[in-house]
Amino acid sequence: MPRGELTDSQSGRVHVIGGGLAGCEAALQLADRGFRVRLSEMRPVRTTPAHRSERLGELVCSNTFKSERPDTSSGALKAELDRLGCRLLSLARQARVPGGHALAIDREVFSALVTQTIESHPAIEVHREEVTELEVGEMTILATGPLTSPALTESLEKWLENDGLFFYDAIAPSVMVDSVDQDIVFRASRYGKGEADYLNCPLNKDEYERFVDALLSAEQVEVKDFDKAAYFQGCMPIEIIASRGRESLRFGPMRPVGLEDPRTGRRPWAVVQLRQETRDGTLYGMVGFQTQLKYGAQAEVFRLIPGLAGAEFPRLGSLHRNLFVDAPRNLRADLSLKSNSQLWLAGQITGCEGYMESVASGLVAALSVVHRWQGRQFLPPPRETMLGALLSYLRDQTNSRPQPMNVNFGLLPPLDEPPRNKLQRKQAYVERAGRRMAEWVETIQ
Ligand SMILES: Cc1cc2nc3c(=O)[nH]c(=O)nc-3n(C[C@H](O)[C@H](O)[C@H](O)COP(=O)(O)OP(=O)(O)OC[C@H]3O[C@@H](n4cnc5c(N)ncnc54)[C@H](O)[C@@H]3O)c2cc1C
Repeated sequence: MPRGELTDSQSGRVHVIGGGLAGCEAALQLADRGFRVRLSEMRPVRTTPAHRSERLGELVCSNTFKSERPDTSSGALKAELDRLGCRLLSLARQARVPGGHALAIDREVFSALVTQTIESHPAIEVHREEVTELEVGEMTILATGPLTSPALTESLEKWLENDGLFFYDAIAPSVMVDSVDQDIVFRASRYGKGEADYLNCPLNKDEYERFVDALLSAEQVEVKDFDKAAYFQGCMPIEIIASRGRESLRFGPMRPVGLEDPRTGRRPWAVVQLRQETRDGTLYGMVGFQTQLKYGAQAEVFRLIPGLAGAEFPRLGSLHRNLFVDAPRNLRADLSLKSNSQLWLAGQITGCEGYMESVASGLVAALSVVHRWQGRQFLPPPRETMLGALLSYLRDQTNSRPQPMNVNFGLLPPLDEPPRNKLQRKQAYVERAGRRMAEWVETIQ
């Protein structure tokens, strides 16, 4: 039988591997639709470096699912998930603690609710077992997250093309292009080679010195031992590079060679390059600027860079141990693997970033399984929705080295007539997303 064309002999049964955020959402969605679900979770038999309990749906770090304000990208995502009947979002609201506009939750109450909801569901069997081999022949959703166990990682690798797994994320901040001062930055590639693909922020000597001072004195997050190994993968944070000598950034990611500032006719002292990240050119990434500074400190320090004084950063930098597939080369639009149509991925392993994004991808993977079972083609949500924009970004072929992504307005296709006012622009994005989501929901009934 050709690889990837396997039939499911057990009707309506799905194996969900991983009882985290994505796996629990997928399991509940499927079980509610009459599927019989086997959910394999390795804790407590084996644990990960970040989890602390044996509960399902454990949050490994912060206790917030981010904003619920409708004019934010995370709020818009939640509105879409509500429309789709997201189970974990509604459990999160039951575990809510005061957090202003943010959906902050009591982690323990939340994971206890998830565990109880899953374990009491008549269509879900929970098996506390480490899955070490991906079986073929049954519909499977793999949702084992950024800390997938090594044995299963090895098994997954066999299904992927060209070293299709990444083990660390080295996220450099992304900037909304319409917040960059176009009077200061200039478009060019080094030595004029190829198209003028980069936006270059030029720094003179004083500006460079001030930037290095701010960088070295900025607050850093505490780095876990299992994250430090990322440095050896060529993912050195800029503050570590800077600490090795004041000139080191100028000979590293901020080197100005091959570039001339048209305003001065000279090579700048140092340069920060921005490279296009989305098909529509709405979002640009800061090249080589992976960092472990605290989020607040990042925005403050990076706004010292000429051209970025008013920059909006929908994604800030981070460096983590992570496991995610090279989605553009391995994942289909319905979240199944190109090499095995019976195997779907969900959660952080797809290359999305964040709690709610992981939940969302679990929901989509479940809907995709349902469609396949019914013999219907699954068309993912449109790109104008937050969910569709995220899924489309994951598979964007222009990303030669994709890095995990959270939802943000920069992923959405531009508006036909964008209002000048920032708030109105966001509202216009959200309204369009709502309309498109409503249309899509009709098609998947
Ligand atoms: C240290 C760390 C901190 C993070 N902090 C945040 C944060 O503050 N906010 C945020 O939005 N995102 C954060 N993330 C990113 C991400 O949102 C979370 O990791 C999120 O939990 C991912 O959801 P998931 O369902 O993909 O994986 P998980 O929630 O990790 O679930 C995967 C599950 O699979 C199980 N599993 C693994 N291997 C096997 C196996 N072989 N067999 C059976 N079960 C297995 C694991 O035990 C786990 O329960 C963080 C990630 C890490 C690693």
